[in-house]
Amino acid sequence: MLTVNEIFYSIQGESTRAGLPCVFVRLTACDLRCSWCDTPYAFHEGHKQSVDEVVAAVQQHDCPLVEITGGEPLLQEDVYPLMDRLLADGRTVMLETGGHRPIGRVPARVVKIVDVKCPGSGEADRNDWANLDRLAPHDEVKFVVNDRTDYEFARDVIRTRDIASRCAAVLLSPVHGVLDGKVLSEWMLADRLPARLQLQLHKFIWTPTTRGV
Ligand code: SF4
Repeated sequence: MLTVNEIFYSIQGESTRAGLPCVFVRLTACDLRCSWCDTPYAFHEGHKQSVDEVVAAVQQHDCPLVEITGGEPLLQEDVYPLMDRLLADGRTVMLETGGHRPIGRVPARVVKIVDVKCPGSGEADRNDWANLDRLAPHDEVKFVVNDRTDYEFARDVIRTRDIASRCAAVLLSPVHGVLDGKVLSEWMLADRLPARLQLQLHKFIWTPTTRGV
C-alpha cells in the first residue's frame, strides 16, 4: 500500500518538461524540513491506496507524462512497484526526490529530478553526495536558492563536481517570493554558470499557495 496525499492533473511547473500537461502523484511523508518547503501539508495528510488504485487514478487522466513527488517519495517501499507499473503502462515517469535518499534502486528509465540542498534549506548536511554518481544522462539536478550564500554554494558544487556533465540539466530555482529571479539570473550570467534558471510556472499561473496544481 501507498500513503497518497493527492493525485492531480496540471501543468508541469518545473524541470525541462515545464509547461507540459502532467499527472502528479504526491506521496505523504518527508524526513526533511526544508525552511522554504511549499508542501508541508504532505508531511502527514494522506490516505491509503494500493498500487493498482494509484495506477488506475493516473490512467483516468489519459496523459503520457506522470510525476511522482512528495513529501519524499522514496520513503515508501511501494513506490518501486508503482514506478515499474507506470513505465510498463507506457508513461514517461519523473521522480522528484530530496537528494538525501539513495536513488540506486529507481528503475533506469525513470527521469529523476534530484535536489542538492543548499545551506538556506537547513538540510544541507543531509545531502547524499553518492547520488551524484548514480545519475543517469537523462536525469536533472535541482538547487533551490534562497540567497547569495546558497547561490555560491550551488555554483561551487556545480563547478567542482562537474554536475553539468553528469545529467541532462542543472536547475537553479529561486525561492518564490524571497529571491528575485532577475537577481539570480544576473549572478548566473556573471559566472557563466552551466545551469538553467527555473521559475516555478504553476506559481505564476495560479496563486502561489494554490494546492493541486
Ligand atoms: S524535501 Fe521536499 S517535501 Fe521534504 S521538506 Fe524539503 S521541500 Fe519539503
